[in-house]
Amino acid sequence: MKQVGVFYHPAFKTQGYLTLRGRLQDFPGALEGVLQRPNVRLLECPRASREMILKVHPREMVAMADLEDECRSAYESVGGVAAAMEALAQGELDRAFCFTGAGGHHAGLREFWDSSCFNDVVIALTHVREVTAARRFAIIDTDATHAGGTLQLLGEDPEVLHICFCRSNYCTADGLALEVNVYPSSGSRGPQLFLEKLQKYLPKVREFRPDLLVWYFGFNSHVDEPASLGLTETDYVASCGLLVSLADDLGRPLLVVLGGGVIRRVAAAVIPGIIKRLSED
Ligand SMILES: [Zn+2]
Repeated sequence: MKQVGVFYHPAFKTQGYLTLRGRLQDFPGALEGVLQRPNVRLLECPRASREMILKVHPREMVAMADLEDECRSAYESVGGVAAAMEALAQGELDRAFCFTGAGGHHAGLREFWDSSCFNDVVIALTHVREVTAARRFAIIDTDATHAGGTLQLLGEDPEVLHICFCRSNYCTADGLALEVNVYPSSGSRGPQLFLEKLQKYLPKVREFRPDLLVWYFGFNSHVDEPASLGLTETDYVASCGLLVSLADDLGRPLLVVLGGGVIRRVAAAVIPGIIKRLSED
């Protein structure tokens, strides 16, 4: 039975980014059913140390974020992702889901904007490389918005494969950063096209053979969200199933990090289903 950690902090709904705090008002209550499963544990996100963040962002950027009221939960957001990734890399967990109060993938070296404060995933993998044997990471980003900060920070890191499913198509010369356009000109095929593209590109992750898989997941592509790609609860569970299968085939752990999405009703409808899928074989 796979061991699943769910990383959460109550500050995410009281001190989270202004546009993100409302979405989690039904949590952790909405997880009541899934938390009854014997292999699912709810864990409180620890606060990341300033030193951990300074390994990625310069001091002046961290000082600016510290002054920003909307970034008050950023330390717990990063801390949860780092703790989850470390537990996965150490074999203490098989799969994890991290709630966040501030986004991460827009945060670049010196800038933070559009609901991101610190780059949670890049900080976490920097930390985990220092304290575990994990070196190679695959990041599958299906948030509806572009992961510009993560791409900037990773630069030409030869041990990270980054695939961003959003609105353009390109691949860097080294083949390690790919953009995949999943927004069709006609919205009607959105979910079908998205799942087809996800299935098409996941073999690249298999070839890369990462030590750990990260799914940067946003529900901002949900049919009811402003950045809609037309996806529904069923499509997210299907996506999760594809990533779970891939991680299992590779014998590697899977980390799911919550990115964008603002509607409370959508969060309550989508997130428990994803955690339930993580808890299944
Ligand atoms: Zn992108």
